[in-house]
Amino acid sequence: MRFLTQDHLGILNSGLCLVHCLAMPLFISLGASFASHPLLELVFVAWAAWALRSALAGRSLGTFEVILWSVWAVFALSMFLEHEIEWAGYLGMSASLGLIIGHVLNLRRRRSEEALCCDTVDAH
Ligand SMILES: [Zn+2]
Repeated sequence: MRFLTQDHLGILNSGLCLVHCLAMPLFISLGASFASHPLLELVFVAWAAWALRSALAGRSLGTFEVILWSVWAVFALSMFLEHEIEWAGYLGMSASLGLIIGHVLNLRRRRSEEALCCDTVDAH
C-alpha cells in the first residue's frame, strides 16, 4: 500500500482550506489580502475535485460516491458564493469537513478491501 494516497492529499487539501477559511478574518486584519484571492479558492476546489476523482477511480457510482460528489458540489458552490452570501462561508467549511470525513471513510474502505484481497490470495 502506498504511504500517501489521493485520500491523504484530499484530507490535506480540505484541512488547509478549513484553516484558511477559519483564519480569514485574521489574514484580512493583518492585511494579507492575498488570502482572500478568488484564485486560492479555485485551487482548493480544483484540488478537491482531483483528489476525489483519483480516490474514487475505478469505482462504479454508488451511494457513497454520489454523496461525496454532492458534498464537493456544495463545497465548490459555497467557495464561489462566500463573498456574496455570508452563510455560504460556513456552508463551505461544513462541506470541507464533510470531504475530510468522506476521504477517511474511503481510506478505511480501501484498507478493508485490501485486507480482504490479500487474505484470499494467501489462502490459495
Ligand atoms: Zn478556504
